[in-house]
Amino acid sequence: MITINEALNIIKDNMPAPGIEAVATNLSLGYVTAEGVLAPEPSPRFDNSGMDGFAVRWDDVLMVAGGGTVTLKVIGESRAGVPFSGVIDSGEAIRISTGAVVPPDADTVVPIEDIDIFDDKIIIKSVAKKYKHIRFRAEEINIGDILIAKNTIINPANIALLASMGIEDVSAYKKPDVGILVTGTELTASGPDIGDGRIRDSNGIMLESAVRVSGGNITYSGIVDDDPDGLRCKIIEAMNRSQIILLSGGVSVGPHDHVKQVSADLGFRQLFWKVRQKPGKPLYVARFEDRILFGLPGNPVSALNCYAFYIHPVICDLLGREFSWHCVDGQIHEGFQNNGDRSVFVRSRIKKSGLNKDYSVEPLQNQDSYMLTSISEANGFFIIGPGEHFDKEDKVRTYFYPWEQ
Ligand code: AMP
Ligand code: MG
Repeated sequence: MITINEALNIIKDNMPAPGIEAVATNLSLGYVTAEGVLAPEPSPRFDNSGMDGFAVRWDDVLMVAGGGTVTLKVIGESRAGVPFSGVIDSGEAIRISTGAVVPPDADTVVPIEDIDIFDDKIIIKSVAKKYKHIRFRAEEINIGDILIAKNTIINPANIALLASMGIEDVSAYKKPDVGILVTGTELTASGPDIGDGRIRDSNGIMLESAVRVSGGNITYSGIVDDDPDGLRCKIIEAMNRSQIILLSGGVSVGPHDHVKQVSADLGFRQLFWKVRQKPGKPLYVARFEDRILFGLPGNPVSALNCYAFYIHPVICDLLGREFSWHCVDGQIHEGFQNNGDRSVFVRSRIKKSGLNKDYSVEPLQNQDSYMLTSISEANGFFIIGPGEHFDKEDKVRTYFYPWEQ
């Protein structure tokens, strides 16, 4: 049986290829750019005023710098969106607003605060220097400059930049298509009266939610009995729409566990089956063309823990987000010993406590893999290897579940 690290490496070596698509700018939040975005036009697009004030010719106001005042005639206005189209002669000025076009005859803007205004005359009391308060064309960005680098997670500011340049879509990593299929004759969709011996499917909705956290695109979800023919049909449906296929249940050694055989019949090549881990020992992973199939154990805790540890990183990588764990070294509440021969994922509550706000780690009590409370109350886990042991208050590397950021 392989170790958890071997399992991770096999998955890493068998990653499906990331897809790239043009994503509309207004929908691109959170996508990752698959190539650098170049500026199609300069910014600013035209010389414009950085202040509300008056556009003047520097030669007319030069002497104000020496301590005097100058009176100019106001002959018009340049408003934001409504440029001035006349000529400014010596001794003349125009009123100008922030963002309005600075006409070619003017070379300096004097803010309102430095001016006394009398009908069509202004007295300039103070000036700084030539070109002051003008934002010049292309002073920020030239045509062809890199606006957004490759592999950037698109944020609201990036979207604003794209919009300001009139860029309507951006080349980004595609959300991987994920199909989810839960297997088990005992399963029913949710409802009050489900009959003796049956249980409500909780893995389906759990995995859908987890895929949403990771950023995958759910293309298929369904429930199927432990029946090879039905299973075959549903896996084909899921395959046709998905690059990642998640199954739950039916991967153990029972007489009604058909996932492995049916997948093999459909051409999936087993990458591994069974990992030296608890929970989640029967995890089955297989590959067909550019698709990867994860056969998760049916026990909900096993399924979700395997999802977090193996599948979330795959989806992140396909999205172009380099995956790394959010982890802390926390002080463990109690001694812990692993006498078994498998690595154990210990669902825990990570808290910040004490005067220094250090992290503490409290392993939860009900660690059995069918007990959803053990993972519902947890915000993270630590891994204890075979034969390993932690003393109370040891510092233990503890990982937050992806949905607990
Ligand atoms: P299996 O891996 O098929 O042997 O299932 C292991 C355990 O998980 C059994 O107790 C199942 O009833 C339970 N189980 C399987 N699938 C689901 C599901 N979709 N929702 C909740 N429990 C499940
Ligand atoms: Mg089953």
